[in-house]
Amino acid sequence: MIEILSNIKFIFFVMFFIILFIYESYYSDRPWISKRSFRLLFHMKMAIINTIIIRIPTIFIVIPTLMLITENQYGILNNINIGFVSKAILGILLLDLAFYWWHRLNHTNSILWRFHSVHHLDTHLDVSTSLRFHFGELILSSIYKTILILLIGMPISVFIFYEIILSACNQFHHSNIKLSDSTNKVIKKFIVTPEYHANHHTQIKLSRDANYSSIFTIWDTIFFTYKEATKKDREYLGLDDRTKEFGLIQNIKHPFIN
Ligand SMILES: [Zn+2]
Ligand SMILES: [Zn+2]
Repeated sequence: MIEILSNIKFIFFVMFFIILFIYESYYSDRPWISKRSFRLLFHMKMAIINTIIIRIPTIFIVIPTLMLITENQYGILNNINIGFVSKAILGILLLDLAFYWWHRLNHTNSILWRFHSVHHLDTHLDVSTSLRFHFGELILSSIYKTILILLIGMPISVFIFYEIILSACNQFHHSNIKLSDSTNKVIKKFIVTPEYHANHHTQIKLSRDANYSSIFTIWDTIFFTYKEATKKDREYLGLDDRTKEFGLIQNIKHPFIN
């Protein structure tokens, strides 16, 4: 069952990636500074390394925990009397809220920032940036995720559904797609748009240490962390250090030096 659901997740991931990649070629917002094929290749290399490494915590921690709570009916959702759809919605909202705080902690805690800053070293944003994460961040977040699965009592199917939505949203808000002002305004009332997340990737600390939402924008609104950046700010993305952007070894070593 897990195997089939994971395959469905992977198919959705690839399909959505290709659609956005083509779409952002025709309707791009920011001009392409570096070669797209080069960016894609570099980020794919990171993704391949991450996919191999992340299998370890997935097989040994995440999947056993999902099976454990299904068998023993642990967690919040297993102990409240509501329908399956309500449980699914509540579970997804709780995970998204928890990941809002996780992302926020990745910016405020200096050790976590060492790993998360690898994602922010990118000086441009496109759908391939959604692949750019240090495996250390992914391992730590899968441990956090396991604790959440246990507390919330996530059913396996809802968890996989959440992962599909999260990866689709992750690809969408990193893409270089130009939306009209009116469309952007309507969508960002509910979910994170490319412009919304570009605010988070600016070099300006005020908007970078803000706009933490992953799927639903309501969390930034509730916790007062929605900070609009200017169009000019969004033209200069990344961090002060612009030399490490495309060095594979440099990116892997990045959290462990200084
Ligand atoms: Zn961030
Ligand atoms: Zn990002």
